Amino acid sequence: MISSKMIKLAQNNSVIRAMFEEGNRLAAEFGRENVFDFSLGNPNFPPPEAVKRAVIDVLTDTPPTEIHGYMSNAGFPEVRGAIASSLNAKHGTAFTAGNIIMAVGAAGALNVALKTLLNPDDEVIALAPYFVEYGNYVGNYDGKLVVVPANPPSFQPSADALAAAITPKTKAVIINTPNNPTGVIYSEASLKALAAALEAKQKEYGTSIYLISDEPYRELAYDGAVVPWVSNFYKNTLVCYSWSKSLSLPGERIGYIAVPGEIDEFELIFEAASIATRVLGFVNAPSLLQLAVARCLEEKTDLEGYDANRRALYDGLTARGFECVFPQGAFYMWVKAPDGDDKAFAAAAKKYNILFVPGTSFACPGYVRIAYCVAKATIENSMDGFAKLAKEYGL
Ligand code: PLP
Repeated sequence: MISSKMIKLAQNNSVIRAMFEEGNRLAAEFGRENVFDFSLGNPNFPPPEAVKRAVIDVLTDTPPTEIHGYMSNAGFPEVRGAIASSLNAKHGTAFTAGNIIMAVGAAGALNVALKTLLNPDDEVIALAPYFVEYGNYVGNYDGKLVVVPANPPSFQPSADALAAAITPKTKAVIINTPNNPTGVIYSEASLKALAAALEAKQKEYGTSIYLISDEPYRELAYDGAVVPWVSNFYKNTLVCYSWSKSLSLPGERIGYIAVPGEIDEFELIFEAASIATRVLGFVNAPSLLQLAVARCLEEKTDLEGYDANRRALYDGLTARGFECVFPQGAFYMWVKAPDGDDKAFAAAAKKYNILFVPGTSFACPGYVRIAYCVAKATIENSMDGFAKLAKEYGL
């Protein structure tokens, strides 16, 4: 018999697979252009041209043994130094290469952070709605995921609700801003309130509670919105970043963890996280991509393109009577199920070849997530279907 944990995962996985297969079935029946698949967070814009140039340049101007060889588990020192300098210029931090560990995407970064911090039965808090993989990642290290209920209609985090969920066993809190699935950017006031709650609980219990800030959407912020740098408010923060969305490189698996020098037990955490990278089997983040992204730190994805999609979808849906959270960042629209039943809403949309994800998948029933990292035509051509869906709900 294989791992009982994995048997459970394999059974649950079939729900996601069913959605994927449903998209393929609909595409085969009606043609790909007549299927409006808003279910996946896969960037539709190609990486900036500079990424391709950087990869080619690295391959031409760096000795192959340097590019492709083993290195320290934390990654190339010069790459980590360049990232530190870029962060310092943007956020007023004081990082050096010694604060940055290269990671295999945000997923790798989160796993390294959790592997570093957790003992069995330690509690990790996530704020609903949250990226569903957090539960699996915490389970990898036999931690216990504790969910703080959502805080509609703003979906800003509630410091009081967080404080109520903290126990002496709380080792970490995961936040994600800009947020998947709501598109909300946690405000400076919200983060300060979270920090105050965490400080108070650390004092009350005599523990260290680490804030893991999952930030793959950091660069996707609209209308000049600022995404506050979390460790400026709370020193026990680990920032998990990736270029999956910001440079449209999800398949390349490249990101980093920033560990501020002020964090409790800094030396131990940094050393343990470097070792975690190795013993989890990553060994180090992909070497060619490390060298390439270091040359693209100020490059941007097509933010205007996402913004145009955001406005087209928001305007289209609200004009048809749907209630949406206006997203400030990321590329997701969080839409209220008209009668509160998110699963029935997603099932009804399928009749019009529209696919999106029920909020239940993010521990927040009553809403659905519509990913607008798609071709603009997909949004425009879906509007007839959304109009019929609205009519069905009497909007
Ligand atoms: N965290 C959140 C909130 C995400 O939405 C995703 C991917 O969609 C990840 C982490 C994983 O990102 P990566 O591809 O960089 O591992």
